[in-house]
Amino acid sequence: MQDKIYVIGHKSPDLDSMVAAIAYAYLKNSLENTNRYIPAVAGEINKESKFVLEKCGFKMPKKLDSIAGETVILVDHNEASQSATGIEKAKVIEILDHHKLDFKNSDPIAVTIKPWGASCTIVADLYMNNTVAIDKNLATLMLSAILVDTVITKSPTCTEVDREIIDLLANLSGIDDWEQFGMEIFKVRSDISDLNETEIIKSDFKDFVLGNKKFGIGQVETADLSQFEIREDALLIEMDKMLETDNYHSVVLFLTDIINLGSKFLVASKDVAKIEQALGAKLEDRRVYIEGVVSRKKQVTPKFSEVFDK
Ligand code: MG
Ligand code: MG
Ligand code: MG
Repeated sequence: MQDKIYVIGHKSPDLDSMVAAIAYAYLKNSLENTNRYIPAVAGEINKESKFVLEKCGFKMPKKLDSIAGETVILVDHNEASQSATGIEKAKVIEILDHHKLDFKNSDPIAVTIKPWGASCTIVADLYMNNTVAIDKNLATLMLSAILVDTVITKSPTCTEVDREIIDLLANLSGIDDWEQFGMEIFKVRSDISDLNETEIIKSDFKDFVLGNKKFGIGQVETADLSQFEIREDALLIEMDKMLETDNYHSVVLFLTDIINLGSKFLVASKDVAKIEQALGAKLEDRRVYIEGVVSRKKQVTPKFSEVFDK
């Protein structure tokens, strides 16, 4: 066998990053008639990922604690601050992503970035273009990831292409009501009763370096915002600890209500006034609910870049 190549998503793996790795590795192996592409994850996978893997009969991708010395394809991210540990010593040969490009490399490499709602939409589109068959289980797996990443098409990141691919995959999956299927997955992820504060914060957490300062922005999408209320104080205490121990300028957690389409923001920061400027809202007791904000990528990080990245 030729040298293995890991296909790997970001730290705090979400469903899209895990499924994109599985599906893209499979596609590359089919196209090149090899088995050298190996899907991997850069950390513990979350609840809905486990649920969907089991439902579709896939085994857990290999968990890599470090990618130092490995050859890798990055999916669902491209910023080094979000990559698996050891990225500076890894050889990146390709990127497939749906986030802004913030990647530096000394060699020219293949980069596929589309402004679509999920990495899996890009992967599914590549299956179509290359006429590689998608079986029922793989279709269900990719459908799940796109539904979660686009908040069942309600996120402003969701495009016409995502909708087309969702219909197509739902067909292949034999799922008539994909909205209901999406809600089923969100219900699994919404149950936080068995998670501690750190697990909640880190369940979908991304680091950003803006103006030489480190920011951590976590998001939890839930069908039941009320269960978080009694835990907000405890979450803030944990975020304060992260601010100190991990040397963040700010740690922001936003809890997105996927039914009413708004988010409750919790903030730990060394410069609260500037965070308020980025959010465009005044905090009260370090928290604020903002109507209509549901996407980190489209509605939150651009504002942070505007205020802090100079
Ligand atoms: Mg992701
Ligand atoms: Mg994604
Ligand atoms: Mg997401």
